[in-house]
Amino acid sequence: MSFFNLTFNNNENTEIVDKFIDEYAQWHNTGKTPDMGSLDVNYTLELQKKRLDENNVRKEVVFDTKESSFKQALKCFTVTDRGDYKSDVACKDYKVTETFFVNNKKKKKRKNKRNFYATITRLLNQNAGGAVACPNCGAISDVQDLLTGCKSCGTRFIIDDLFPKVTNFYHIKDEADLIRKILKPSMLICVLGMIATVMSYSLISNINNGNIVQGSDDFVFQIVQCVIVGLIYGTVSGYILWAAFILIWMMIGAIKSLFLLGPHVRAKTQLPKVMRQIDPNFSYEFFIGKVINLMKLMIFSDDYTNLAAYDGKPMQNTFKDIVDISYDGTVRYNTLKTDGNYCYVDITVYTTVTKVDGGALKSSKEKFRVVVCKNIHAIANAGFSIKNVNCRSCGGSFDATREHNCPYCGNPYHLGNDDWVVIEFNKE
Ligand SMILES: [Zn+2]
Ligand SMILES: [Zn+2]
Repeated sequence: MSFFNLTFNNNENTEIVDKFIDEYAQWHNTGKTPDMGSLDVNYTLELQKKRLDENNVRKEVVFDTKESSFKQALKCFTVTDRGDYKSDVACKDYKVTETFFVNNKKKKKRKNKRNFYATITRLLNQNAGGAVACPNCGAISDVQDLLTGCKSCGTRFIIDDLFPKVTNFYHIKDEADLIRKILKPSMLICVLGMIATVMSYSLISNINNGNIVQGSDDFVFQIVQCVIVGLIYGTVSGYILWAAFILIWMMIGAIKSLFLLGPHVRAKTQLPKVMRQIDPNFSYEFFIGKVINLMKLMIFSDDYTNLAAYDGKPMQNTFKDIVDISYDGTVRYNTLKTDGNYCYVDITVYTTVTKVDGGALKSSKEKFRVVVCKNIHAIANAGFSIKNVNCRSCGGSFDATREHNCPYCGNPYHLGNDDWVVIEFNKE
């Protein structure tokens, strides 16, 4: 089944998303990075784990599918690069319970329904290269090396051992869930309230009018009549009152979300429009996944000097008190400009962050302005990893999360020639 660019995919992506979710939940408890996660996804998780540990914060997460609207992953679209890889952005909804502990004391618990977006990448061309971790020893190798035998441990693998991988993920709150939750109880309150009001009104007024006299022949009949009147009129008027209340509440919500969603809708329509002139394969969700991951790198990296994902003016990380960040689903598109071979996208991302403050945890809404840049001639390559880049001068491969300059020839490495990099990052 498919409408617009949405396809309900059957089992394949569902299984991968579920497996990744399980491993991701486990990561919170054990620190073991997901087997389904790509090198870059796991690198960001390692940084966050370090930040959590340093602050003695532990987070427990439970994903529940019992109330999920989609039992199958909803495949948003497919992104193909030069033909070696194929990536699907799959979406599934979960009820997520997050519990935070500081020094093993429970501090915060939140429960909400979230839509989980995962980029699932498959290798199409068996001769293509790309960086992966050896499933046996963890050494970072080229795909081709692992197919012929890992250089570190000698184990040989088949493609199915190495791919698919989750190369990106993020989750956003399902806003419709709150409306569903409030609907039934609020109706009950309105109807019961009105029944009680009408009943007591009719009883009191009849007693005052002298229609009901204790000890008279039709005393019980009169009381029953008041109760029936209360039930009928109370139910009808309570329901009308509730409907009016919901209508007004939803209208206020719509007006409010118009202000909040306005920029988001603009970003979602404008960004692909301008970006597709540069990159015909541009996908909004795929790009947002990249930006969210880059933001996490900027927040959880302690030192920017050797971080290849940051190519801006030297600065210090001022966000070291943040232990968790989640994307609120809204992005404001500021500007896009091209300068020579590079294009610069300036956006503002709406998030909820959790900070440590002494022994307490505080959550707040924060907006981050991010300017990202990429070489317009860089060909999308889903096998690319910042953990294993190739120097443009000497061809040597090295880990760009640790070194900004090639360790073999000393030339600076610019990640922006291969993938998106951060040029500016600050709180708005
Ligand atoms: Zn190995
Ligand atoms: Zn080099």
